[in-house]
Amino acid sequence: MTSIAGELALVGGTVYVSPTEEPVRDGVVLIQGGEIAAVGSRASVQIHPTVPSLDCAGRTITAGFWNSHVHFFERKWANAATIPAAELGRQLQDMLTRYGFTSVFDLSSSWENTRRLRDRIDSGEVPGPRIRSTGEGLIPPGALPTETVVNMMGLMKIPMPEVTDAAQAASAARKLLDEGVDGIKLFASSPRSASLPESVFQAAADEAHRLGKPVFVHPNSGMDVLTAVRGGVDIIAHTTPHSGPWDETILASMKERSVALTPTLTLWKYYMRHDCLSAQEQVANTGVGQLRAWLACGGTVLFGTDLGAVEYDPTEEYSLMTQAGMSFRQILASLTTAPADRFGESQRSGRIAAGLQADLIVLAGDPSKDIQALTAVEYTLRGGKIIYARGSPSR
Ligand SMILES: [Zn+2]
Repeated sequence: MTSIAGELALVGGTVYVSPTEEPVRDGVVLIQGGEIAAVGSRASVQIHPTVPSLDCAGRTITAGFWNSHVHFFERKWANAATIPAAELGRQLQDMLTRYGFTSVFDLSSSWENTRRLRDRIDSGEVPGPRIRSTGEGLIPPGALPTETVVNMMGLMKIPMPEVTDAAQAASAARKLLDEGVDGIKLFASSPRSASLPESVFQAAADEAHRLGKPVFVHPNSGMDVLTAVRGGVDIIAHTTPHSGPWDETILASMKERSVALTPTLTLWKYYMRHDCLSAQEQVANTGVGQLRAWLACGGTVLFGTDLGAVEYDPTEEYSLMTQAGMSFRQILASLTTAPADRFGESQRSGRIAAGLQADLIVLAGDPSKDIQALTAVEYTLRGGKIIYARGSPSR
């Protein structure tokens, strides 16, 4: 579809250039050489007759989505260097591109393996999203599930660095950063060991921040959130509904340090799926309540679902975010501008404007009227190339 010069025009859709601006109706997005060359009303953007076009009438165009909490740790990603390209492409489509994700942050996996996966995508061999990764997460001793459980969960067996004190945390973080990871992830606690102390977060954060890279925490309780935030962590990778609502101390300290939150609300329902309905509802409602409380503080939300540990379809996450009080525009921000800003990509990603990379999505409906239209992805484009088209087999 894209011409040799990498030109393509998306014509006739409702274009959300950003979550805060009024959409352009009957708009045009002109792509050249992987970038957005122009955006505006059909009357205002000139399209040369030789430029191929995609009819987007009745459709909605947004910037490509970020999922800021995924994992490439399912067994299907093992030996990423040798999985046949067609199969790899299908797997990436099932998990990500069919839902419009053009950028993801992997928060713990085998770095060596994930880097190979990324290389194959970035070389153009396999259509897929832009990947950032923390590599292996830092864990308290004994936090890894047993091999039997890992197998049952369908995951790869990945050794992870265990840390108990600041010196170990600094050294483990430095090793990963030397190997080129894009951030650092810490698991705050496990049922089988004491929680990591603030000094451990601080040590890992110092190493990452020196290189301008973000630090993520997997907390299991409100207390874990507080300790991690005080230790300098940037992104809280989960709500923590099992420890009850977040109190003022937790929320104020999150706000004061300007952290961001990936809510992962669907995860709680998924893990509780074998429990009685009332218990499921209680946990789900507490998670939604924590997100609502964070929004009331004006806190930053990054869309993130813990993909790899849950079903791929984001439908329920959008519903739960709506239940927590998020509008379409707030959800769109969590998918586009908020992660682009947080990860230093706002000059390249997150909006539709001339000069930005052409990471774009075409949706069948209008998500401002029905939030579930966010899942009705017709086309996903990365750098101006169509990497997913509904109804056509993946390459
Ligand atoms: Zn996770």
